[in-house]
Amino acid sequence: MYYNENTVIYFNGAFVKAAAASTDLYSQSLHYGYAVFEGIRSYRVDNGTKIFKAAAHFDRLRHSASVMKIPFTYTTAQLTELSYEVLKQNNFTDAYLRPLVFCSPNMGLSKGKASYLAIQAWEWTNGYLANKMRLMTSSYQRPNPGAFHIEAKVSGHYVNSILACQEAKDNGFDEALLLDANGFVAEGPGANIFFEKENVLYTPAKGNILPGITRATVIEICNGLNIPVEEKYFTVADMKEADAAFYCGTAAEIVEIASLDNVPFKLNWEDSLCAVIQKAYRCKVLEQQFKPSLETA
Ligand code: PMP
Repeated sequence: MYYNENTVIYFNGAFVKAAAASTDLYSQSLHYGYAVFEGIRSYRVDNGTKIFKAAAHFDRLRHSASVMKIPFTYTTAQLTELSYEVLKQNNFTDAYLRPLVFCSPNMGLSKGKASYLAIQAWEWTNGYLANKMRLMTSSYQRPNPGAFHIEAKVSGHYVNSILACQEAKDNGFDEALLLDANGFVAEGPGANIFFEKENVLYTPAKGNILPGITRATVIEICNGLNIPVEEKYFTVADMKEADAAFYCGTAAEIVEIASLDNVPFKLNWEDSLCAVIQKAYRCKVLEQQFKPSLETA
């Protein structure tokens, strides 16, 4: 359950009880997936609660609304302030924030006439210690960038994610790995992918993926630690030759991938650069100093 009778959300200009909030069944968003959203985390840090990369997330939300031609006038500063207030009203520190911008009643296929903003939040502490994942190459491709604004976080795109994730689970795997329309590795249903090979990190180039904020943070961490990182196109066969790999995203942070199509990665996770990056990411979200150990770095 994401809320109880005490949970407060921000909804269209007011802080209201989640249980009492309602919406119109004739919303364009409900019928056509025509809505945009974000997934954001807040962490308990020394001097209170900090929303990690708030500006990057709210800038992306505004970008998503703009390319989808959904009218949306909130600024990044306003969205950040409202989100802190949602956390405060619920007494949350470690939490997941879900701002959703959806459209007014309209059964037509023209652009949205008005939008509503909901900012929901629920407590969230896991991520870092999530289990190792066993991936399956999906039979579903990521949406074609010629057909969608793939760099935007649009609700309708997640129909593709649900298909791929469920297919993987139905086949006894934890998660899917989706390819792009050209057959190169793209991303997971809700995460970007990195792999390590001979002390170099690789991740799919932009163009066919949601270029994640966590992905950008990982690249930043690699640069700071002098770990070479390359953005390029590669195949499933290339990935199966990798030493180690991880999924990254706001919700899950950095999660070890144990195998792809039952082919295990070669390195012990603890001996990989991926594990160093995982620890450095944790330090970054908690605003702590990261000290790489000499054995692993
Ligand atoms: N790809 C997809 C399809 C996603 O849904 C997400 C999660 N937002 C990501 C990548 C990772 O993005 P971020 O690091 O910004 O959460």
